[in-house]
Amino acid sequence: MTDIILKVVAEAFVNGRDIMDTGSAMLGLGGDNAFCGGCGRELMHEVPVRSMVVDLLYRCDQCGALNEVPKNN
Ligand SMILES: [Zn+2]
Repeated sequence: MTDIILKVVAEAFVNGRDIMDTGSAMLGLGGDNAFCGGCGRELMHEVPVRSMVVDLLYRCDQCGALNEVPKNN
């Protein structure tokens, strides 16, 4: 289990990707913890975000930033 700081993406770079709302933190059964790159709020807890096939964006409910899972780490 790793803590991942997500990367904030500008609205201009959404490129048609689906945006997932994280109003309540997503709770998984095992994986990583993902934090908003803007304000540091925990968006996902023990969710295998890095093995997700779909390239989703996650909107932070606290600061409104769009986040993506950083590549190559
Ligand atoms: Zn945030």
